[in-house]
Amino acid sequence: MDLKIVILGPPGSGKGTQTERLCAELGFTKISTGDLLREAVRTGTPLGVKAKGFMDAGKLVPNELVMDLIKEKLKSVKGPVILDGFPRNLEQAEMLDKITKIDMAIDLEVNEDKLVKRLTLRRTCKDCNSVFHLEFNPPKVAGKCDKCGGELFQRSDDIERTVRERLRVYKESTLPLTNYYTKKGILKMIEGEGDIGAIYQRIVKAIKTK
Ligand code: ADP
Ligand code: ADP
Ligand code: ZN
Repeated sequence: MDLKIVILGPPGSGKGTQTERLCAELGFTKISTGDLLREAVRTGTPLGVKAKGFMDAGKLVPNELVMDLIKEKLKSVKGPVILDGFPRNLEQAEMLDKITKIDMAIDLEVNEDKLVKRLTLRRTCKDCNSVFHLEFNPPKVAGKCDKCGGELFQRSDDIERTVRERLRVYKESTLPLTNYYTKKGILKMIEGEGDIGAIYQRIVKAIKTK
């Protein structure tokens, strides 16, 4: 059976970092609404034009815009899937349950005081979306992606003021999802602090015992 997993956790908890490795090593396909939205903003599609203001303000993009993206993507992928950054609120989770069956929800737990530093020193590859950290996970060559050689940039929402708003929005809208998936009996809490490889091993173990 092809697993469908959602990965939860606050901004900066390591969702993108861990998902990247699950895709490279276990054959998952990533669907990241954040990546898809940033691409839409970059290329100036009608969706991108509508989404930009919300993203720059650290707010969630309206559900109907994101749902269309997800529906389209889910139709086009085969094999095991990991949803990164979706769902972000109860309404999205309920809509997702209407279109597919989710097997597992992983919740990466990281203390809030760690998140601001993780996010403000994050650097992202403009070509493949890989993430690095200037101090905790620096690229081998400054400013260049280890995976594809692409140029690294700082996301416009990774500045302290916007980060704090994103953390507030997370607590208000996304955190309640841990309850939602606990009630369904599919939530796995994973300690998200410490060595990136050790966290990855905890996630793999949770997936393999599923
Ligand atoms: P998310 O997708 O949940 O927002 P990311 O995977 O982009 O989080 O990680 C946020 C930042 O923290 C990145 O700069 C990443 O390199 C760094 N990071 C990820 N995991 C760890 C970890 N275990 N310890 C320290 N820094 C980490
Ligand atoms: P992070 O990995 O740091 O948590 P994301 O890349 O997932 O950030 O999201 C960046 C921004 O894109 C969010 O602040 C929000 O504006 C928008 N976004 C991403 N996913 C969703 C979603 N499922 N619903 C609404 N907005 C979203
Ligand atoms: Zn790259």
